[in-house]
Amino acid sequence: MNFEDFQSIKQILSKPKKIVIVTHRNPDGDAYGSSLALYLYLLKFDHLVSVVSPNDCPNFLKWLPKEDKIVIFENDVKNGTKIIEEAEIIFALDFNAFHRVGEKMQRVLEKVNPIFVMIDHHQQPDDFAKFTYVDPKICSTSQMIFQFLAKLDHLDFIDKDIATCMYTGILTDSGSFRFPATTSETHRIVAQLLDKGANNSEIYNQIHDVNTFNRMQLLGKALQNLKIIDVYHTAYITLSQSELNKFKFQKGDTEGFVNYALSLKNVIFAAIFIEDRKQGIIKISFRSVGNFSVNDFSRNYFDGGGHINAAGGRSKESLKNTVDRFLDILPSLKNELIPS
Ligand code: 5GP
Ligand code: MN
Repeated sequence: MNFEDFQSIKQILSKPKKIVIVTHRNPDGDAYGSSLALYLYLLKFDHLVSVVSPNDCPNFLKWLPKEDKIVIFENDVKNGTKIIEEAEIIFALDFNAFHRVGEKMQRVLEKVNPIFVMIDHHQQPDDFAKFTYVDPKICSTSQMIFQFLAKLDHLDFIDKDIATCMYTGILTDSGSFRFPATTSETHRIVAQLLDKGANNSEIYNQIHDVNTFNRMQLLGKALQNLKIIDVYHTAYITLSQSELNKFKFQKGDTEGFVNYALSLKNVIFAAIFIEDRKQGIIKISFRSVGNFSVNDFSRNYFDGGGHINAAGGRSKESLKNTVDRFLDILPSLKNELIPS
């Protein structure tokens, strides 16, 4: 997006508008962090603003400022639909294709005709927005919201709550500042967020110190199920629905499990396959280190996408058949699955 585009948006936002912020299904720290940061910023003007999320977030995000104001579409389809239909401007945050919001909400978004503004950091965005502010090199959409406010020359509007939301999104999507997309610029922005009042230590604890005994036991099971295929430098984990049930699975419990597979020496490609009987799918997370693109892999084989080193996908086959298909694909990628 060029200078004129940011000026146009600033111009559009200079008068009160009905604005809706939407984010992707199964919202993570960056989805909610970026949405609430933008929400709190827009509320400082006379706009009518709502955040609509396709479904609820994990418990470890429930403390975010104004999280309770988010409209959960699947819990109130009628109200969610009405809010979206009445919007003059819709910000699409942390996703770049309508299917990422799930079928029901997708149908509503495809019908309406507001000014769409996409702010996102995933690769290969769809072409639905009038304004598309996308940069896959940035570690998080929350960092892009900071940069967006910088372009509008509105950094002065960032208060403690906004800084807290942005910090949360940057922290979670950068893997606590360790993924390669974390740059000196990320740290410079984070420094400013701390100056605005974000409490790094408190935020980290809110997100990470929420382990339950059941989650620890589920992690134990996941690690027992971990398999490694040395020739392809690949490791994967499976969790069946009955294993999830045994440990009273709650949304968010499997967050980060796939990273244990990736942390193995000489492993550059990791996957976790999680059975979801209710949705009738296997939800898959892919991670890699180096040049192997899990975005391409997931797009090509598992109906998903994401970033070069982190992507998600899904399969409608059984857990066993999904894993078998995964294993069948690997030989064809032997030359790419080599540590750099
Ligand atoms: P996760 O494995 O945590 O669900 O997803 C990893 C990353 O890939 C996240 O940034 C997520 O937003 C993205 N992602 C997950 N599923 C999809 C998908 O179906 N399409 C696209 N484009 N990105 C996805
Ligand atoms: Mn993100």
